[in-house]
Amino acid sequence: MSLQTKIKTSVRMNVAKRKLDSRKIKAQHGNPLEQWGLAKIRNDIKSNKVLSNHFSGVELDREAIKEYKLIKFREVLGYVLENSPYYQDLYANAGIDVSTFRSYEDLEKLPLTEQEDLANKPYHFLCVPRKDIIREFTSSGTTNMLKRMAYTQDELLEIVDSVISGLKMAGMDSKDDVLQIMYPTITATWDPGLVLSKACALGGFNSVIEDSLDAREQIRTMKESGTTFIIGTSSFLYNLSMQAHELIEPGELGIKRIICSSEPLTETMREMIESVWGCKTLRQWGMTELGLANAIECEHQDGFHLNNPDFLVEVIDPKTGKVLPAGEKGELVVTTLRRKCMPLIRYRTRDITSIIDETCMCGACLDQRIGDIERWTGE
Ligand SMILES: [Zn+2]
Repeated sequence: MSLQTKIKTSVRMNVAKRKLDSRKIKAQHGNPLEQWGLAKIRNDIKSNKVLSNHFSGVELDREAIKEYKLIKFREVLGYVLENSPYYQDLYANAGIDVSTFRSYEDLEKLPLTEQEDLANKPYHFLCVPRKDIIREFTSSGTTNMLKRMAYTQDELLEIVDSVISGLKMAGMDSKDDVLQIMYPTITATWDPGLVLSKACALGGFNSVIEDSLDAREQIRTMKESGTTFIIGTSSFLYNLSMQAHELIEPGELGIKRIICSSEPLTETMREMIESVWGCKTLRQWGMTELGLANAIECEHQDGFHLNNPDFLVEVIDPKTGKVLPAGEKGELVVTTLRRKCMPLIRYRTRDITSIIDETCMCGACLDQRIGDIERWTGE
């Protein structure tokens, strides 16, 4: 790398770092993901006249955040009506007047966004000029429908910011922490390794990408790099642990946490992985359409903490569309609250879960969590 390129890269990194809300997370001040969410909401309120008038002198407790999200939801509705051909058509055809939309109860009246629509006509969802798109990701997820999502530069930085916060919640807290990134089986157009190594660089941690399928190679890299955290797909990490079982003693390598992403992880798989490495294993959940890193467990392993300020989640009966109360199982439906490129409103995830609406043992009390996630079989 030439000196000029090095200087340019360093300037770019510093500009990016200043925009991150995750840099406001302070260790020992509660759940890092929740702290990040609060910082993000506070920033948003400060920079928006309507919001700052509305929330002037109001403490950001659970109720206030619920109200904040409803205001954001209405803001997104106004935005898509101006900019998104898909939602203009959808609401016009359904005869919906979104100006009458006022409360959480009104949510149910809005039609759901189907995955097929996103797969069939992605650019109808586009709300910005194509020149503003910096990256496009395609993914089939687990539904075998090829979906394309476009992101702007600012949105990618927001994703990286949320990944840093998730890693901090998982326990990464200093430059001595090294994340070993293992995604040898991912063939999608997005590269989780790239997003994760960028997040580590901006968050002040170290990382190493190791794509070997061989446990001996992976362990060698762990020893050489001083790896303290591991992330990869659930099936890969399970298979790796089966091999590593013969090669290491639990706790021998000083691994602090393992993060299983992209695929379901059963409790039996989790127990086996934890017994091999001698540390807790956390599940992570995300969808390409929603920006990949959307929710992660804390050390109490009691539900997924969501990137609260970015999404409004509902759980519905997949057959009737009726919104279900917290605790009841149904299909997860997500609205993106700050996407400008391709916002999604009441997007059907085809994942079955329930909303957990109570304080977590980690102390997080402002956000909703979601419980175990299963695929919807259509039955
Ligand atoms: Zn928690």
